[in-house]
Amino acid sequence: MNQTESHVMYQQLGISETVWKYGQKTEEDLQERFRGFDETAEYNQLKVIRAMQENRVSEGCFNYVSGYGYNDLGRDTLEQVYASAFHTEAALVRPQITCGTHALAIALAANLRPGDELLSPVGKPYDTLEEVIGIRPSKGSLAEYGITYRQVELLEDGYFDYPAIEAALNKKTKLVTIQRSKGYQTRPSYSVGKIGELITFIKERRPDVICMVDNCYGEFVERIEPSDVGADMIVGSLIKNPGGGLAPIGGYIAGKEELIENCAYRLTSPGLGKEVGASLGVMQSFYQGFFLAPTVVCGALKGAVFAANIYERMGYPVVPNGKEARHDIIQAVTLGSPEGVIAFCKGIQAAAPVDSYVSPEPWAMPGYDSDVIMAAGAFVQGSSIELSADGPIKPPYAVYFQGGLTWTHAKLGILKSLQSMIDAGVVSTDRIRELL
Ligand SMILES: *Cc1c(COP(=O)(O)O)cnc(C)c1O
Repeated sequence: MNQTESHVMYQQLGISETVWKYGQKTEEDLQERFRGFDETAEYNQLKVIRAMQENRVSEGCFNYVSGYGYNDLGRDTLEQVYASAFHTEAALVRPQITCGTHALAIALAANLRPGDELLSPVGKPYDTLEEVIGIRPSKGSLAEYGITYRQVELLEDGYFDYPAIEAALNKKTKLVTIQRSKGYQTRPSYSVGKIGELITFIKERRPDVICMVDNCYGEFVERIEPSDVGADMIVGSLIKNPGGGLAPIGGYIAGKEELIENCAYRLTSPGLGKEVGASLGVMQSFYQGFFLAPTVVCGALKGAVFAANIYERMGYPVVPNGKEARHDIIQAVTLGSPEGVIAFCKGIQAAAPVDSYVSPEPWAMPGYDSDVIMAAGAFVQGSSIELSADGPIKPPYAVYFQGGLTWTHAKLGILKSLQSMIDAGVVSTDRIRELL
C-alpha cells in the first residue's frame, strides 16, 4: 500500500492536490496528539469490555421483547453495564427516553418537588432546557409545578464564581445542574477535574444537595466521567457519544440508586418504575454502540483537532484552539462571512455516505432568531456523533462541527469543507500553497 493510491481516491472525491497535501502535512504534525487520543480510547475500551464481562452479557440479551417488558434481560443487564462502566449504583438506559433533553427533563422532574429550587452555577443552560425549566414560559415546565430556578453567571474567564454560588445556595436548593459541554455558547467546556472541584465546593456546604451533570458530548473524551468525581447523576443522549453511532434512539441517566428509581417512576409510572418498558429489538445496537463508543469518540476527537489546526493555520479563530486539551467533541470555527459558512456546510454534506448529492441551504428554523444551515448525511436522523455541521447565518458567522464515526470520514469531511470554500471563491488556492 502506498499513499499514491489514497491520493487518487481523494482526487476522485473532488479533493485537489494542494488541499490533499495541506491535509497530509497537518495530519503529520498531529501524530502525538492522536496518540494521546488513542491511549484514552484504549483505556475506555477496556473499561467497557470489563463492564460487559462483569455483568455476563450474553446472546440472550439481544432478544426481541415486546409488550410490558417484564424481566427484559437485555434491558436490565444493559443498565447494569452502564452503571459498572460509569461507576454508579444504578442506571436507566431506554429507547423510551427519546433524546437528551427528555433524559434531562426526567432527571429534573423526578427529583424535584413543588417548593424546591434548582440551581445552575454555570450560567445559562442548553437552549432546550430553558423550556424544561420554564426560563422561557412553556407548557409543563418545572416552573408550572412550583419549582423555582436560580442561575449564577460565569466569571469573565468562563469559570465559576464561587462566592456567588455560595450565596445562591439556600434552604430551598435541592438540585444543582452542571453542563459539561459548552453547547453553542462561547464559554469553555469543562474538564471532569474542574467539575469535580465545583461539586466538592457545593457538597462541603450542602452535602444533601443533588449534583447532576449534563454529560452530553462528553462521554469517553476523558478516562473518568463526572460520576467519578462526586456527581450524583449523569445524563446523556444515545444519539451522541455513548450510542456509538449505532443506537437509533435513546437516552441514559446513571447515578445513585434512589435517584434513578425516582427517574424510572417518572419515565413510566408510579408503582411500575423500571419493571416495564420493553426494549423492542434495539438492544443489540445499544450494546454494540456502547462497545464501539470509545473508538468512535476517539475518531471524532481527531477530526475536531484536525479541523482546528487546518483552519487555525489559515487565520480563522477556532474554539477550542489547535493545541488545547479537549473536553467534548465540538469544534467551532469562525469563518467571518455567510458565504464561508454556507460553503463549509456544503462541503461536509458532500462528504457524507448518505444524501451526499443534496445541497443544504440556510432556512428559518423554528426557535432560532436567524437562518440556520445544517449539514448532515447521517444513518440515524439528527445524529450528531455522525459527521455534521451547522451554522447560524449571523455574525460572527461561526460553524459548529462535530462527530464522524471514523477518523477517516472526519478527515474527508474537513478536506471537502475546505475544497468547497475554495470552489466558492471564499479561499484562494495560493493561500493554502503558502502554508505547505
Ligand atoms: C445535545 C445536548 C442536549 C440535548 O440533547 P437532544 O438530544 O438534542 O435533546 C442537552 N445538553 C447538551 C449540552 C447537549 O449538547
